[in-house]
Amino acid sequence: MKRRNLFATAAAAGLALAPLGAMAQAYPTKPITVIVPFAAGGPTDALARVLTARMSEALGQTMIVENLGGAGGTIGVNKAAKATPDGYTVLFTHMGTLAVNIALYKTLPYDSQKDLEPIGLGGTNPMVLVTKKDLPAKNFQEFLAYVKANQKKAQYGMAGIGAASHLGGLMLNNMMKVDVLEIPYKGTGPALNDLVSGQFDYMVDQAVNVLPQIQGGNIKALGVSTLKRLPQLPDVPTIDEAGLKGYEVTIWNGFFVPKNTPKDVITKLNQALVAALSDEKTRARLIEQAVDLPTAKEATPEALRDQLKASIDKWVPAIKAAGVQPQ
Ligand code: ASP
Repeated sequence: MKRRNLFATAAAAGLALAPLGAMAQAYPTKPITVIVPFAAGGPTDALARVLTARMSEALGQTMIVENLGGAGGTIGVNKAAKATPDGYTVLFTHMGTLAVNIALYKTLPYDSQKDLEPIGLGGTNPMVLVTKKDLPAKNFQEFLAYVKANQKKAQYGMAGIGAASHLGGLMLNNMMKVDVLEIPYKGTGPALNDLVSGQFDYMVDQAVNVLPQIQGGNIKALGVSTLKRLPQLPDVPTIDEAGLKGYEVTIWNGFFVPKNTPKDVITKLNQALVAALSDEKTRARLIEQAVDLPTAKEATPEALRDQLKASIDKWVPAIKAAGVQPQ
């Protein structure tokens, strides 16, 4: 996908970047809470913080990130879905908590399509298969052989059922035909700390979280989840080319508000998001971390609604076809 700054077109048309002060309502008159349903220091948290820093400026009010991890993000999403729909509680989450987990839980406390209103896409991130530094495998083939031979003791980390890291690990293990113990965390921020200190063997996590530790030599990268190699990791093969044909997982993240939030509030939040996504400094920072930023067309509430539906349509049958039972 092209990553040029297409927001210039919207700005020229005077649409999405119209001054927020021109809106009729006074919103926002107080700080806005942004629920991130994973622990601080992980990829969802990192993206939320970069984007909301710039969105706060556009809105003229602070956006305060509240990390509410646990149960694969479902606790935080549920709190946001049930919040007062006044624009002062916003959710920033990824497709795992809204689409993937429909196939992984027998019951969910929310309906991601009925209980939430989309604001806009925040960015899509590739994933990377990373291992602890001293795992005896130099490349993907050796990793595969190691995990197959050590299924009783191998452990992989993830951020709970339905998290992005769960989807990445689940599909990987399924295609490798291995049954490995999973170690759940409240987010892959804390999981990454434990991988660096060698407390479990591997994880599939978003590039934005793991790149600094790979580049620092504290963990090993053995494969990327996209069908093309990442410019940040040119020597790391795709998992598809390394042997698991068809393995492809990327994770989109987006902003949502509870159902029945007034339309003008949704418009203002979307305008603030567009302002953040058109800010050169913000863009540069995210692109450097392999985040694929939406174009102006992809950053609308409608596009996010479609994206959510497309992800449900893709992943729910794919997980069922992989033989994974809901819990
Ligand atoms: N996005 C991560 C995952 O789903 C969790 C996190 O953001 O900490 O695994």
